[in-house]
Amino acid sequence: MTTMRLQKLREEVLEANLELVRRGLVLYTFGNASGISRENGRIAIKPSGVPYENLKPEHIVLTDLEGRVVEGDLRPSSDLPTHVELYRHFPGIGGISHTHSEFATAWAQAALPIPCLGTTHADYFHGPVPVTPALTETEIADDYERNTGLAICRVVERLGPEEVPAVLVAGHAPFCWGPSSAEAAHHAVILEFVARMAYHTLLIKADAGPLAAELQTLPP
Ligand SMILES: [Zn+2]
Repeated sequence: MTTMRLQKLREEVLEANLELVRRGLVLYTFGNASGISRENGRIAIKPSGVPYENLKPEHIVLTDLEGRVVEGDLRPSSDLPTHVELYRHFPGIGGISHTHSEFATAWAQAALPIPCLGTTHADYFHGPVPVTPALTETEIADDYERNTGLAICRVVERLGPEEVPAVLVAGHAPFCWGPSSAEAAHHAVILEFVARMAYHTLLIKADAGPLAAELQTLPP
C-alpha cells in the first residue's frame, strides 16, 4: 500500500515537472517541483541535473521531512531545503514548484511585488504577489536554500498559504505551492501569465491600478 502510494506520488511529481517544461517555464534544468505524502512522511522531488527529457518516475528522489534521502540513487534538487521548510511550516501544502520563468523572475530580480491589476490575478493571488526581503550576508553564506525557505515562510505566515500560493524570492525567482504538485505547477503557470500581464499593463500605463480592494480579497 505504502509502496503504491509513493509510486503514485513519484509519477505525480514527474508529471508536475514536465508540465513546467511544456508551458515554457523552465530553461535547461532551472526549476523543480516536489510533492509530499504526509501519511508516509515522504517528500518526492526532482533530482539535480538530470535533463527533463530523460526523467522517469524512478529518478524522482524520496526524502524524509528533514530532507534526508531515503530512496533514489540521484541527488535531490539543491533547492530541497527551501521545499522542506515550506512543508514543515504549512501542513496544508501538498506540492511546491520553483521556476526561473522570465517575467516572474524579472519582478523577483527587481525585488518588487507584482501589483494586483486585474481579476485574473485576484482570482488566484487575492492581492499583490509578495517578495521576500533580501537575505543578509550571513543568511546567504550559511545555508542559503534553507534561509530562503525561512524568508518565504515569514512572508506567508502573515498572508496565509491558501490566500497567496506564490512568493517571489528577491534576486532569485518565484516559489509556488498548492494542495498537490499538479496545483503547484498550475500556480507557476498562472503566476508567469499575471507577471507578464502586469508588465505590459504598466508599459501601457505606468500608473495603472491597483484593482479595487473589494475585487482583490477572498469571497467570505
Ligand atoms: Zn532557482
